[in-house]
Amino acid sequence: MSKKYVYFFGGGQSEGSASLKNLLGGKGANLADMAELGLPVPPGFTVTTEACSEYCTLGKESLFELIKPEIDDALARLEETTNKTFGKGPKPLLVSVRSGAAVSMPGMMDTVLNLGLNDETVEAMIALTNNERFVMDSYRRFIQMFGNVVMGMEHHDFETQLEKVKSATGKVLDTDLDVDDLKEVIKLYKAVVKEVSGEDFPTDPMEQLWRGMAAVFGSWNNPRAIKYRQINDIRSLWGTAVNVQLMVFGNSGDNSATGVAFTRDPSTGANEYFYGEYLINAQGEDVVAGIRTPQQITMAGSRVWAASQGVSEDVRVSEYPSLEETMPVVFAELDAIRDKLEKHYKDMQDLEFTIEDGTLYMLQTRNGKRTAQAAVKIAYDLETEGLISEKEAVLRVEPKQLDQLLHPVFVKESEVKAKTLTVGLPASPGAATGQVVFSADAAEAAKAEGRSVILCRVETSPEDIGGMDACSGILTARGGMTSHAAVVARGMGKCCVSGAGDISIDYKTGQFTVGDSVVKDGEWLSLNGSTGAVYLGKVDTVDPALDGAFGSIMELADKYRKIGVRTNADSPKDAEVAVKFGAEGIGLCRTEHMFFEGDRITSVRKLILVAEEVKELRKQILYAEGKEKAALEAKVAIPLSQYNEALAELLPLQREDFTGIFKALDGLPCTVRLLDPPLHEFLPHEVKGQEEMAKDMGLTLAKVRHLVDSLHEFNPMLGHRGCRLGITYPEVTQMQVRAIAEAAASVEGSKPEIMVPLVGNVKELESQKEIIVATIKEVEAETGKKIDVKIGTMIEVPRAAITADEIAEEAEFFSFGTNDLTQMGCGFSRDDAGKFLGDYVEKGIYEYDPFAVLDQSGIGKLVKYAVDAGRKTRPNIKLGICGEHGGDPASVEFCCNIGLDYVSCSPYRVPIARLAAAHAAIKAEK
Ligand code: ADP
Ligand code: MG
Ligand code: MG
Repeated sequence: MSKKYVYFFGGGQSEGSASLKNLLGGKGANLADMAELGLPVPPGFTVTTEACSEYCTLGKESLFELIKPEIDDALARLEETTNKTFGKGPKPLLVSVRSGAAVSMPGMMDTVLNLGLNDETVEAMIALTNNERFVMDSYRRFIQMFGNVVMGMEHHDFETQLEKVKSATGKVLDTDLDVDDLKEVIKLYKAVVKEVSGEDFPTDPMEQLWRGMAAVFGSWNNPRAIKYRQINDIRSLWGTAVNVQLMVFGNSGDNSATGVAFTRDPSTGANEYFYGEYLINAQGEDVVAGIRTPQQITMAGSRVWAASQGVSEDVRVSEYPSLEETMPVVFAELDAIRDKLEKHYKDMQDLEFTIEDGTLYMLQTRNGKRTAQAAVKIAYDLETEGLISEKEAVLRVEPKQLDQLLHPVFVKESEVKAKTLTVGLPASPGAATGQVVFSADAAEAAKAEGRSVILCRVETSPEDIGGMDACSGILTARGGMTSHAAVVARGMGKCCVSGAGDISIDYKTGQFTVGDSVVKDGEWLSLNGSTGAVYLGKVDTVDPALDGAFGSIMELADKYRKIGVRTNADSPKDAEVAVKFGAEGIGLCRTEHMFFEGDRITSVRKLILVAEEVKELRKQILYAEGKEKAALEAKVAIPLSQYNEALAELLPLQREDFTGIFKALDGLPCTVRLLDPPLHEFLPHEVKGQEEMAKDMGLTLAKVRHLVDSLHEFNPMLGHRGCRLGITYPEVTQMQVRAIAEAAASVEGSKPEIMVPLVGNVKELESQKEIIVATIKEVEAETGKKIDVKIGTMIEVPRAAITADEIAEEAEFFSFGTNDLTQMGCGFSRDDAGKFLGDYVEKGIYEYDPFAVLDQSGIGKLVKYAVDAGRKTRPNIKLGICGEHGGDPASVEFCCNIGLDYVSCSPYRVPIARLAAAHAAIKAEK
């Protein structure tokens, strides 16, 4: 049988169903599903995403030939079901042509409404409805949408014509325009179409339909859709489906309306009232376009809204009444549908509806986009309400999304003191501080420079998507809680204040005014996305509270996960934060980070500058005798004393650091990595620093410069670093181990794990281990305390992975340093690969940047091999990962599956890793 490209829905029956999401797109599948459930869905048909994929490969002509018979059939069936005729009176069939992919991409692709209108069907519609104004309003909308979506005209081309008529007639709102005004608008629209596109507006409905479908298929690959898929990592979809659906009219008078609603609050997850907005006598996009101020669905919601906007109850009732008040019967029907749909889909739904002359129609339902806060609360509530299981609740929260919750919020005192410029709508929660920019491009440029900015726009549109992603917060002057800015920001987890109506933005001069304040491009601004407040200047932030629903979901995650989660932390403060976030120890404590603090760097530099000389002279002394020996001893005296001095200066500092960390960990294990980076990273490369060292050490500047030069390496990442340092300068290892051991002896219950970096050959580990064991024995003897310590290594050199069986003879634990393992395993310099990795990912050579997402089929195999080989030698060997990958959900899943004992990641990613580990465990069961 040949492929089926067209699926009909309506009249209580559907050929498709919710399970065909890939083929019908989310919109099409759920329309079919809702029709089947007996909800009032205008009938129509869905052309599959496969057709889109063939449109993109075979081209328009071939595809159309392929699907024409099915389209003709479906159209005939639609005419029959609706008792209307496409392109003819007395009852003309008008349709919408709607996009809709398997994963929802709000506003990214195109839709055309009122298709099928031309000068003749317009006459028939007027005769039929006796409402000339409504028909003309629909016609002008159709010309504008079709002109824009299908004929490539700019909205602006039309808006100027509309404004012309408005100003000539002195009218403000679209709804103020009367029949004659609208006729004039239509005339001007047709003229501008002809002028700009060079062709007459097409009058043949069949031509309109085919061109409409082609445009929707084509919109799959428009730049903003491509960008959206990139940002959200949406891959391997077939394309968009096209839904052709009977039009219902929210713009046919004051007993008609259109709206969008969420079954629960998408910002907070609250389930207090039905959350949504509507507009009387309006069509489709009007609610989200921010053209008029939308009204709330429920009375409760309406009152909350009025309070936040300073609107009195009298004004609210007369100008912005809720749907509950204006159309109580329809409201009750809609409220019952909300309940039915939530129970059916077992998730918060985002609904579109239209009311035509008092009759309710459902136009869309999908799992609503939500903030992380809402995701957590909704998952928890649905579980408590018994709609979903514990495991399902855990799976409902995306690990990556948690990121939003873990970031700081404003410090109350600092926020109270800040100067409030205005209050807009709390469209997407969180706190953001940044410099003002007025365009998406400027935001992207600022991000590239590492600046954080607030993107200020009158309203946002899908073209702004890149800038919205790049900024730290979004402020719009127009648009409601379901405006483009609000919806997109919530999806991104970005702080957003929308509809701050007091602000007037002037893009030309690069400033906005509010009251008598003027805020210029580059000035600092702070936004509270949870209250809608806009502050001048910077407001201080604090870490968020992690209790309530969040705590409960994390408890569930811990209940189901099977792998431990540690953190990478180098200071007591980081360790504390991580433990608060649920870390079960430190998986990587990088000692060198301690070397940069305060004036420690001077001691470190001193050590490095003389180390080589001391070593050389000592070697010579070993073989010298008599006078020569005495001369050498005299020569080494000063550098040696400087060398020992530096070590003696560093010892107590390191000991203090470790003491603080062990205290913060309160008995949790701590893997300490011995000195790792190439020495040159510590050296003073500028004259000023070199002068300081010269003065400090009593050397000439030329000598210091000579020493710095002599330490230069051509390929430092493959140079004198890692355990190679401890092998050439054993005193450094001694000093570090002594600091660790003394700290451990002083803090009851400490569990240090000493980790030797960059081992490739078991003998390197043996040699370092000898020093480590001896030093610990010394400290034990001195303090009279037994120190509970493990000695292990990083597996980050491919040779180590391959010889893991030998290394495990010496190592009590392995920690996979997947950054270096990726660098050396793939042969990609971490510092230089940025130049070409983009191309690699674009061409699909690597699916993701292997430094961000573990390359499972290559580097992952090395890890897996080492795991198995290590366990063979030492069955109880402890295994963990401490590369950047430890906090990436996909990599966490991999680590789980190959049986590591724990992952380790940065403190703020600990909850993400805990949740990702639970996802991995639950998925593995399935
Ligand atoms: P998007 O994916 O951008 O939301 P939609 O295809 O859902 O695009 O349509 C855009 C707007 O037009 C929505 O508000 C929708 O409810 C409305 N709409 C679509 N089809 C119809 C129809 N047949 N009758 C009335 N309104 C419609
Ligand atoms: Mg929609
Ligand atoms: Mg390393």
